[in-house]
Amino acid sequence: MRISADYDRCEGHGVCAEQAPAVFELDDDAELVHHFEGGTIPPEHVAAARTAVTSCPVAALRELT
Ligand code: SF4
Repeated sequence: MRISADYDRCEGHGVCAEQAPAVFELDDDAELVHHFEGGTIPPEHVAAARTAVTSCPVAALRELT
């Protein structure tokens, strides 16, 4: 699966990084870093990544089909 991130919508809450730290993190400026931007998320991180998508308070993450 793949996930797109809307960096303009993201408000840096960091919920995604808590739920899926292998996929998302916040840099020192609280800017979202998506480690698999444009790529496929490894199977072992898919469940956590889906939780991150549904947990984002501003719906900045979207699972791509
Ligand atoms: S949970 Fe949503 S708003 Fe928060 S850092 Fe992640 S993408 Fe951004």
